[in-house]
Amino acid sequence: MDGQYGDSTRTVRAVSFPAEPGSPVAPSPVTASTYHLSPDESEPLDVYGRYSNPTWRQLESALAALEGAAAALTFGSGMAAITSTLRVLAKPGSTLVVPADGYYQVRRYAAEYLAPQGIKIIQARASEMCEAAGAADVVLAETPANPGLDVVDLHRLGLVCRSRGATLVVDNTAATPLGQQPLSLGADLVVASATKALSGHSDLIAGYVAGSNPDLMAAVERDRLLAGPILGAFEAWLVLRSLGSAGLRFERQCQNARALAVMLRGHPAVRWVRYPGLPDDPSYPVAADQMKRFGGLLAVEFESAAAVNALVERSELVIAATSFGGIHTSIDRRARWGDEVSDGFARFSLGIEDTDDLIADIERALR
Ligand SMILES: *Cc1c(COP(=O)(O)O)cnc(C)c1O
Repeated sequence: MDGQYGDSTRTVRAVSFPAEPGSPVAPSPVTASTYHLSPDESEPLDVYGRYSNPTWRQLESALAALEGAAAALTFGSGMAAITSTLRVLAKPGSTLVVPADGYYQVRRYAAEYLAPQGIKIIQARASEMCEAAGAADVVLAETPANPGLDVVDLHRLGLVCRSRGATLVVDNTAATPLGQQPLSLGADLVVASATKALSGHSDLIAGYVAGSNPDLMAAVERDRLLAGPILGAFEAWLVLRSLGSAGLRFERQCQNARALAVMLRGHPAVRWVRYPGLPDDPSYPVAADQMKRFGGLLAVEFESAAAVNALVERSELVIAATSFGGIHTSIDRRARWGDEVSDGFARFSLGIEDTDDLIADIERALR
């Protein structure tokens, strides 16, 4: 059983498919092949690329296995997965809670597209989620919240949602299924961007929804079919190819994040550091309870914007980039994107470089 294996074994197994004599080990992308209709008209599989294709199904079965879900659906981006899910769940007259301190485009979508349709939007920070859920029909939580890295108590939030019949959706982008499995903690659906640590090479955009409630999954699949926010078959194949090394990559990213958190914590150039895996972090008690690994992101406040820029300039290994989760260590000064943070606030995304090299490089750059 997969339960007995470690995560690197599980990621490798998630992308191992039964061999068929004469077929390639890893299927090449199915893009515009001729879809031969089956004479059996009750079998609508693969009649057209927006319905489904074999590469999607392989990726979806791998993602479902990693999330501990009955099923998964791929999307053309994380936002496509999130907005499709919200279109299905949030009906006119209903109340939707979205993270105030999470991924900013989600708030924009809620304000610009859902609110005008008569959906009441409540914005709540990670620490306010459980209280806000008391008045909600649908709750979208993000934990650890990007970029501040506060953690939401998913078990408690799940109980609040269940007690009032609200649907709980959790954005699992930052933690990945190797860091936490929200469905096992009480979420009804997981939404995520596979653009970040899961695919990990900063070379594609993809998203997915995972869940075990067949009605919810069928409704999301229906929206994908009708609205069409699909993942290209080539990207689906690339995610699948990348997934096999996700266990190794994520392990190193988490190790590097922890080492950097420990180094920066007492550093004179740093005002504060947030990492849910540091035992004195305010999020640690909940994070230690619900997370298996604490992730590759680090939130740091330096003195000023100039201090962050100087670090990038002097470092040989840290690059300035706004996405995260890739194999290269990067830093993003979030105030430039309008996040409500100070000018010196930066989010590190740890790559897979050797830990000692990275720490020495950043120490040197800060000197
Ligand atoms: C990047 C991100 C998204 C959006 O994903 P895309 O693949 O860029 O559309 C959603 N949620 C979180 C937490 C993210 O970091």
